[in-house]
Amino acid sequence: MTSLQHWQELLKQGVNNTKELLSLVNLTEHDLPTALTSPQPFKLRVPRGFINRMQAGNPNDPLLLQVLPLLSELDLTPGYDTDPLAESTTNPVPGLLQKYKSRALLTITGACAINCRYCFRRHFPYSDNNPGTAGWQLALDYLRQHNDIKEVIFSGGDPLTAPDTILANLAKQIAAIPHITTLRIHTRLPIVLPERINDEFLAWFSGSRLKPVMVMHCNHPQEIDASVVNALNRLHKAGAILLNQTVLLKGVNDNATILAALSEALFENHTLPYYLHLLDKVQGAAHFDLPMTEVSAIYNELMALLPGYLVPKLVREIPGAASKTTII
Ligand SMILES: *Cc1c(COP(=O)(O)O)cnc(C)c1O
Ligand code: SF4
Repeated sequence: MTSLQHWQELLKQGVNNTKELLSLVNLTEHDLPTALTSPQPFKLRVPRGFINRMQAGNPNDPLLLQVLPLLSELDLTPGYDTDPLAESTTNPVPGLLQKYKSRALLTITGACAINCRYCFRRHFPYSDNNPGTAGWQLALDYLRQHNDIKEVIFSGGDPLTAPDTILANLAKQIAAIPHITTLRIHTRLPIVLPERINDEFLAWFSGSRLKPVMVMHCNHPQEIDASVVNALNRLHKAGAILLNQTVLLKGVNDNATILAALSEALFENHTLPYYLHLLDKVQGAAHFDLPMTEVSAIYNELMALLPGYLVPKLVREIPGAASKTTII
């Protein structure tokens, strides 16, 4: 039997039960009568290190609200869909999505270390969209045949829940395709399970011909503790370009002061804000949505607080568009 790495042990030890989560932050169902405690189709899942950053006794904690299943998720809200991005139509071979010119995205795994309640993945069958035993040969062939593709994006789910042996092998085969210059990883692990950024990972990620880019996903400055600072600094020292994307969420970060503090905390740790996403209108996430007038007010205030390079681009994803769509 191969022994698990430290980060894999931590991944396995994640909490997946509402009552246990509430008790770890000194709350009861009485404090949070809106919590959903029965088993859910999109399971609760959160690493213990992330729970440690929640404020005990606070039912409105911004980290808690991102992961806590609510009864209202079961409501059917008109205008909210199960495949809001129409992903199922941009999938030429299993495991590969190409929506935009010059870059292709590999859905490495359906697994995540954390299940974010607002995520469109709660319905999209990513678990059915990786090549499984058929391997990555069709996807690699597609990349070889399309020499306008300069960048490959590892996505998911969260690609960093996959073992380094698999990722390093894939990266090696991609590095052998001459027209590909950049390897980008979209991941939440440096934030929610920073122990993932270890020597084994850094060796393959920064050790090839490909320019390493990482797009993190951090929504609130309270997510950044000493362990995250350490991971970001290790990535930076290894030569990775670090960017962050955030989802604008009612009750979590719908406030210009919080978003400005987030940009500043990331910048201190070599990470530039990239995108501020409007919520995808996914069934079960309506309670995170904000009216456009409020979004504009928050964004205008944010622009007034920060230098331009610390203001993320406000975007939404519109199916069929040639890129993410800039708002305002
Ligand atoms: C968002 C996304 C990308 C990356 O877009 P950028 O604007 O380059 O960050 C690439 N492929 C797919 C399918 C995407 O959804
Ligand atoms: S894909 Fe990203 S946003 Fe969605 S649940 Fe996984 S970590 Fe969260």
